[in-house]
Amino acid sequence: MLALLLSSFLLTGPALPPTDWRTPFEKGNGNTTTTHAECISYYQQLDAAYPEIQLREVGSTDSGRPLHEVVVSLDGDFEPASLRGKGKRVVFIQNGIHPGEPEGIDASMMLARDYVQKKELRRQLADVVLVFIPIYNVDGSLNRNSTTRTNQNGPESYGFRGNARNLDLNRDYIKQDSRNARSFAQLFQRWQPDIYVDTHTSNGADYQYTMTLIATQKDKLHPALSQYLQQKLLPSLYGGMDQKKWYLTPYVDFEGRTPDARGLVGFLETPRYSTGYTTLFNTIGFVTETHMLKAYTPRVKATYDFLDLLIKTVHQDAAAIAQARATAAEQTRAQQQFALGWRLDTTQAERFTFRGFEGKTKPSEVSGRPRLSYDRKAPYTKSILYYNTFRPTVTVQRPRAYVVPQAWGEVVDRLGLSGVQLRQLPADTTISGEVYYIQDYKTSPRPYEGHYLHSQVQVRPVRQSLAFLRGDYVVTLSQPAARYLIETLEPQATDSFFAWGFFDSILQQKEHFSDYVFEDIAANLLRQKPELRAQLEAKKKAEPAFAASAQAQLDWVYRQSEHYEPSHLRYPVLRVL
Ligand SMILES: [Zn+2]
Repeated sequence: MLALLLSSFLLTGPALPPTDWRTPFEKGNGNTTTTHAECISYYQQLDAAYPEIQLREVGSTDSGRPLHEVVVSLDGDFEPASLRGKGKRVVFIQNGIHPGEPEGIDASMMLARDYVQKKELRRQLADVVLVFIPIYNVDGSLNRNSTTRTNQNGPESYGFRGNARNLDLNRDYIKQDSRNARSFAQLFQRWQPDIYVDTHTSNGADYQYTMTLIATQKDKLHPALSQYLQQKLLPSLYGGMDQKKWYLTPYVDFEGRTPDARGLVGFLETPRYSTGYTTLFNTIGFVTETHMLKAYTPRVKATYDFLDLLIKTVHQDAAAIAQARATAAEQTRAQQQFALGWRLDTTQAERFTFRGFEGKTKPSEVSGRPRLSYDRKAPYTKSILYYNTFRPTVTVQRPRAYVVPQAWGEVVDRLGLSGVQLRQLPADTTISGEVYYIQDYKTSPRPYEGHYLHSQVQVRPVRQSLAFLRGDYVVTLSQPAARYLIETLEPQATDSFFAWGFFDSILQQKEHFSDYVFEDIAANLLRQKPELRAQLEAKKKAEPAFAASAQAQLDWVYRQSEHYEPSHLRYPVLRVL
């Protein structure tokens, strides 16, 4: 009975007076953010009061607590496939991936309420559905404190950046170590949103702006979407925010000592990041980054106004967005060349009017050495350089299909979570195609987000026929997930499964030889194959160190022999051409 009472209390939360729809943030002193329990309870109240709002559990998190979504849909239809069929545009807003950066959590509670309560806002939802993740890093939000956001001006207490496994969830979208990320992938694939927003608070320089913005890097985005983003969406958002006196700037990432020294640099979100992942599926992504040194209330208001403006713009441009996404989807399915990595083109820059504070130097009281300080009494408006053109470093011709042995279950599971259509071989089958031998790679000496990340991967493609087993997976590239498949299954891609260490066991040899036994086998082999003997002698002549090492020579002969295992360093995913 107690359990029953307790669970019904947890389900409904403490009762609010029916007319008081203020959120915990609005009831506070302007410098407080909601707790996880208050947040979910508030959405439960909205869900109970309004048929246009639904709060649902959509999977688990590493904390053992469920992940929630909130859907605001005017006609009371909350099913993604059905809503897509009705031609609705989907705006997907994720909050609290870094729970110490909670503006979006508070702003979204107010937005969800306002969009059902205010007539003029309800009108915007005629063709738009809103999906919120109230708090994504549930784990971190339960781990509340007042000190870990060292440089931040409020709120009074907030959650911690790491999740229950001390992972930064904003590096986890491809490797999916966390249950949060696995739940997200399924949720994202169900909705296939048009626009995705991930709300944050920024560290870094001091300047006049309250709100800074990362938009999906334009060169990485499909051209049809990139054109809409640059020509319509971004000008609308910058113009609209200007009108509200929230001047916007691209995220303030810069090379020099201060932003105006050498200009701003575009942020390259590879697929490990939220908007890098969403780009793989032709969803336009935004990361809002309010400035840590502004007071909490304006940071919440700027986030609210940005999200509100974005929803209105999507409503206005619904047809153009639908068209651009349809074009992108169709062309991605047929696309032949894909980029696997990108680098900044330092010869290309545009001019941007930047509202900063003069950076000055004074002696440090800590070290006595010169230190940087921004002078708020010396604001400036200057034209500065903005570098935001990226070029592909490596490109690949897409295969017709990949064949992934079922043995690599962790990879297969992740493909499934990201909506990849997989077909299993009905019988043991030999398939010919192209495989890669891993020639070289660098590995980070310390773990990064739980993995020893590989980079600068070099491969040698070889035509081979491989035996596959009944139940192994054939993955055609003629599917919406084509780009995701390329950027996870091509080992040279920055955030490939190979880079994240999912295939590390192929990097080790399993069998070897005893020198004194193999000496005679090797001698025999060289007698039978004079051309091999000639190659060995040539190599000895060319490489003195090789000539001086009996072991190196024996190993070289071993590698040319039938005894050396062909699977050593062979990436196990076959490319069907
Ligand atoms: Zn953040």
